Amino acid sequence: MSGCLCLPCYKKKEAVSSAVLQNKKPTHSPHPPSKGMDPVERLKSGFEKFKTEVYDKKPELFEPLKAGQAPKYMVFACSDSRCCPSVTLGLQPGEAFTVRNIAAMVPPYDKNKYTGIGSAIEYAVCALKVEVLTVIGHSRCGGIKALLSLQDGTPDTFHFVEDWVRIGFLAKKKVLSQHPTVPFDDQCSILEKEAVNVSLLNLLTYPWVKEGVANGTLKLVGARYDFVNGIFDTWEK
Ligand SMILES: [Zn+2]
Repeated sequence: MSGCLCLPCYKKKEAVSSAVLQNKKPTHSPHPPSKGMDPVERLKSGFEKFKTEVYDKKPELFEPLKAGQAPKYMVFACSDSRCCPSVTLGLQPGEAFTVRNIAAMVPPYDKNKYTGIGSAIEYAVCALKVEVLTVIGHSRCGGIKALLSLQDGTPDTFHFVEDWVRIGFLAKKKVLSQHPTVPFDDQCSILEKEAVNVSLLNLLTYPWVKEGVANGTLKLVGARYDFVNGIFDTWEK
């Protein structure tokens, strides 16, 4: 992919690319069912529905959570609106301590950078004692496309995005050297998994994670959610 990396351009390219892959014309953009509703009213009505249909009906779930949380999982997922792990994996409140960011990336341990991620990992592992750390990539990830599209010597378009996705640089290097001739979209699919593997390796740079994996109290799991074909792959590291 070349050219402008601004979000509207991304969306347009993604819609066109998606339509081409599905062999149909991009006649419209996908919209959630709430299109047209006042955005704040949409949030309020969403909560009212949750309150009456879930919260009020499941005191056995929500009462214990008032006292505290003891999630088994820490989940890293992309911020992409199409891949909410609570929905796709059926995770209930209290089950997963979650970090979502562009391309579901975990940066290596660094006291001076990425402290939002580091503090979440530290709290999940050291305070909450989660048992499983899972990093979930996904199909048609815009962040992965951005990573694969980065050209040496070309100025960044965003203030943060390119620097952030460069966390997966080693995965990109691997994909380009092992699959130099496959089409861009297929390289992206492979990179969606390889970037997860880099994040899993980066998790081991956090001392408590390394220690937990070594003594068997922590498990690292890679995953990819393919929302085009409705497939969820997992692998252990
Ligand atoms: Zn994504």
